[in-house]
Amino acid sequence: MELWFTEEHTPNAHFSIKVDRQLYSGNSEFQRIDVFASPEFGRFLTLDGYMMLTEKDEFIYHEMIVHVPMCVNPLAKDVLVIGGGDGGTVRELTRYKSVERIDLVEIDQEVVRVCEEYLPQTASALRDPRVNMHFEDGLKFVRHYEGKYDLIIVDSTDPFGPGEGLFTKEFYGNCFKALKADGIMVNQHESPFYPGDAYAMQRAHKRIVESFPISRVYQAHIPTYPSGHWLFGFAAKTLSPVEGVNWDRWKALGLDTRYYNTQLHAGAFALPNYVEKLLKEVEP
Ligand code: SAM
Repeated sequence: MELWFTEEHTPNAHFSIKVDRQLYSGNSEFQRIDVFASPEFGRFLTLDGYMMLTEKDEFIYHEMIVHVPMCVNPLAKDVLVIGGGDGGTVRELTRYKSVERIDLVEIDQEVVRVCEEYLPQTASALRDPRVNMHFEDGLKFVRHYEGKYDLIIVDSTDPFGPGEGLFTKEFYGNCFKALKADGIMVNQHESPFYPGDAYAMQRAHKRIVESFPISRVYQAHIPTYPSGHWLFGFAAKTLSPVEGVNWDRWKALGLDTRYYNTQLHAGAFALPNYVEKLLKEVEP
């Protein structure tokens, strides 16, 4: 008998991965957590039946969510990661010597426990001494800080369930307040392709544009996310994501990356016309 994991991307389009075996299944206080082993994508994590990461393509997501803002400001010292309990974002951040402190605010302690046991590829740096884990709601956590962080990375689930509050105007406004004068916020911005995801993307974009003076969107190709075409939001108080960036300063760090490079960084902000149109529709 063959075992397949299937995620409904739309009622008319499903995405399936052949599974060798299920390594873990359990319900936390917040969500259902599953880990599978597959021949094509290696191990993969799903929450409430939605794909979070696979061993084969997680490098694309984690490199693009971390190295784009870190290239714009490679001297970032204080970083806040909201969500991201799988550890992939933290792993990439710990490669920078300049990073002194990483606050990881993950609502679900079980995600961290399960990933440390079954997905060491992403969870490997969670015990780095610079990482401070807080198991609480990111929406509530950011309310308490002002001018504290150089960089906030919102590595959340989709805008329903526990992740819903992380797509609100209140949340983005509090992130703005929690950032230093030249702070940057990056978030996973959903996909522009299928109408349901595009609507979530537009809603998030509208609220970020209303909260930050600089708000741009960039893209990456992530094979296991709906349509494979994924967006990230770059929002900042003063720093542009491309113009004036000192590319050589990042290259001089000598980081070995599999997806990210500085040319790709600049190109990732050049979006297809239909995506630009969707974004413009919600900009003032
Ligand atoms: N790369 C992934 C994606 O976009 O599919 C995100 C993966 S990461 C596992 C997302 C994490 O956000 C989950 O572990 C979830 O528990 C956490 N999360 C969801 N809502 C949250 C909230 N309000 N505060 C903090 N963490 C939250």
